Amino acid sequence: MICAIETTHREYDSLLRSTVVGANRIRDAFHRSPLRGRRNTPLALFAAGTRLLQACILLLCANAAFALPQHAAVPGGIAIVTLGEHNSAPQAYYLGKRVMVVQEGGQWQAVVGIPLSAKPGRHTLRLQPHGARDRSVTFTVSAKRYEEQHLQVPPRMVNPSPEDQRRIARDLKLGAEAYRTFLPAAVVATRFILPVEGRYSSPFGLRRFFNKEPRNPHSGIDLAAPTGTPIRAPAAGRVIATGDLYYNGNTVFLDHGQGLITMYCHMDSIAVQTGDAIEAGQSLGTVGATGRVTGPHLHWSVSLNDARVDPLLFLAPEIVAQLQP
Ligand SMILES: [Zn+2]
Repeated sequence: MICAIETTHREYDSLLRSTVVGANRIRDAFHRSPLRGRRNTPLALFAAGTRLLQACILLLCANAAFALPQHAAVPGGIAIVTLGEHNSAPQAYYLGKRVMVVQEGGQWQAVVGIPLSAKPGRHTLRLQPHGARDRSVTFTVSAKRYEEQHLQVPPRMVNPSPEDQRRIARDLKLGAEAYRTFLPAAVVATRFILPVEGRYSSPFGLRRFFNKEPRNPHSGIDLAAPTGTPIRAPAAGRVIATGDLYYNGNTVFLDHGQGLITMYCHMDSIAVQTGDAIEAGQSLGTVGATGRVTGPHLHWSVSLNDARVDPLLFLAPEIVAQLQP
């Protein structure tokens, strides 16, 4: 979990829970005090105040425990860019999109999603500090070559009918709106659990050809598992869209805050509704084979500032090590 900048309604519930935990600690600290029940002498008030301060520090430390995603400044990766010391969180923009800004070690850091289409070289973040002039911060994107994949699929999936094309256009609009969501959030979970116990069947970034025709690169990872296998939310969030999409089948979008959006596709069943607040590990539905697929699996995409990035960058190294063939 990471501490960040602003508080919104969508984070209100989790903050409220934190506040309740904190209040309980403060109450417990008071009840444990040997001075409880005595008169409010200056010494007693000082001791109680010290207890309260300790409880507050404990609460802050608990909320400050987090792990940033892995820094990998390549197309389809993530750049962790140090923004320096500011009294409050500066707003940062990349390619015209607002990016996640979090605090670590007294420094503000931008967590920037780099699109697969990005060219290697110097890239610029536009920074808007509070009460100061705008400035730029640059970072370098290195080249990365992704593998090719060739698939044979039914011709209708490569050359959809006019009716199907209208449906696909609606699907694209749904996805585009979901991925553009940016809700300022005080707390964002950036260390994920794996949403499905399954076989890692296709990596992120594959350059795909369907019936020898080039298509968009693979914008997520595939986890193959039998139909009906539960899909768990990798972190807390809120459902911002669901639907039955032409290519993606039954689909769920989760918003984790600050432009971090995850998508789950080809589901057999969906167990959540738009607007639901989701806990980490909560069931979203089950693995299936709906949409354009060759077998039951979960397609899982992760997006930062409207750039699809490699989901493995959000997993603990020991989980990634188990996924490698
Ligand atoms: Zn996939």
